[in-house]
Amino acid sequence: MPAGIGADLTCSACSSGRLAPDRVRSAFWDGERLVVVEDIPALVCNTCGEQYLDDQAALQLDLMKGRGFPKDKAVREITVPVFAYSGEDT
Ligand SMILES: [Zn+2]
Repeated sequence: MPAGIGADLTCSACSSGRLAPDRVRSAFWDGERLVVVEDIPALVCNTCGEQYLDDQAALQLDLMKGRGFPKDKAVREITVPVFAYSGEDT
């Protein structure tokens, strides 16, 4: 069993949830461009949903950032709505 990856990991965010391996997605700003990475292996808390990337996944994401997320490597594109912060609920 690799260090830090046990069968019964407790979440350090809510201190009651259990962590289970899952695949997550995350969004990053690359300058003015927003990019999304899917299928990142992570441990996810079954109570609060906190996500923990292992060192390998974090390193891989850094490598991908370093390569600048070339457009021809994207598997698909999505359109996201953008909102201006209004400061109040109307
Ligand atoms: Zn938790």
